[in-house]
Amino acid sequence: MDQHFPPASIATLMEQMAKMTSQREQRELERALLELVGAFLQSSSITLYGVRHAESLPELKLLQVSGEDDSLISPEGCGWLPAGDDARKAIAIGRDNRGPWEYGEHIWQVIYQKNNIIALLQIEHGPLEPEELGFLTGMVRIHENYLRLLYDAERDMLTGLLNRRSFDARLYELLDKPDYQHTLALVDIDHFKLVNDRYGHIVGDEVLLLVAHHMEQVLGLHAQLYRYGGEEFGIILRDEPQLAMARLEALRENIATFNFPQVGQVSISIGYVLIDGQMLPANVVEQADRALYYAKENGRNQTCAYSQLLQRGKIQPQQVYEGDIELF
Ligand code: GH3
Ligand code: MG
Ligand code: MG
Repeated sequence: MDQHFPPASIATLMEQMAKMTSQREQRELERALLELVGAFLQSSSITLYGVRHAESLPELKLLQVSGEDDSLISPEGCGWLPAGDDARKAIAIGRDNRGPWEYGEHIWQVIYQKNNIIALLQIEHGPLEPEELGFLTGMVRIHENYLRLLYDAERDMLTGLLNRRSFDARLYELLDKPDYQHTLALVDIDHFKLVNDRYGHIVGDEVLLLVAHHMEQVLGLHAQLYRYGGEEFGIILRDEPQLAMARLEALRENIATFNFPQVGQVSISIGYVLIDGQMLPANVVEQADRALYYAKENGRNQTCAYSQLLQRGKIQPQQVYEGDIELF
């Protein structure tokens, strides 16, 4: 065993590795990575930034930072800022060489998800010994492998949108924290069976992909987008109701006016409901679904609000489930 690798730390390391690989949430996974790297490199200052590419310039968002007393802080409310010179260099170098890069007082290490750099580690540390370098590279690979597993587990394979499991989890989470207002919308492609029947499943899949793509283009920054199942999608918006309605209408119109290759015109129907902390997941979904059903029954290619339909006497109040029942 090399002198730079104190044997006493192996047990701790294994324990922390087990902890890291047991995480099922991205933030927890990142936290465990910082603890592990901090413990092995004995660096008191490690910062993890999220990385995104607005236009072509990288922007950073502070995700986690290790404090003086080894505690980890996850700052809330930090927004995206243009990357500084050092970080920009580290990201540019990370595109060609995934290994750590030593610069100034810091070690920089990029983190990939699929083929994109999504995060950057900044570690206060002198030059790395060969086994420290090997360790860091290995740990980041393991972290990336787990990120990939997490990513795949929460997404739909065809469209790349979040899947039904993520939708259910998010809804439970939202209804547990009633302080914020949200809108839940269900989207269903109109007469989609006809697309499959006329043009085949492959073209049908292409339409699903394009609808998902339009959802990302129109709503990507403002909403969480899910493939709810088949040709149905779920949308969770944070905006106040008027704005949410306008965004959903913009999506409907965007799809209705797009010329789908081979197929031509395709439309969607949307039903939505305002999420209120007192509601149960099953009630929320059922209300959005009833508004969607009304849209379908009354001409399709339209956006209907549950509360408005109720107010106008177009539908009857929903029976409210008592107690904490299972969603499905
Ligand atoms: P409506 O306007 O009432 O919604 O009519 P519709 O034809 O869209 O609804 P229906 O529920 O009768 O048909 C949905 C179709 O979606 C049937 C199913 O074969 C198709 N579908 C579900 N998932 C997929 C998929 O992943 N790929 C393809 N190509 N088709 C799918
Ligand atoms: Mg359907
Ligand atoms: Mg349909």
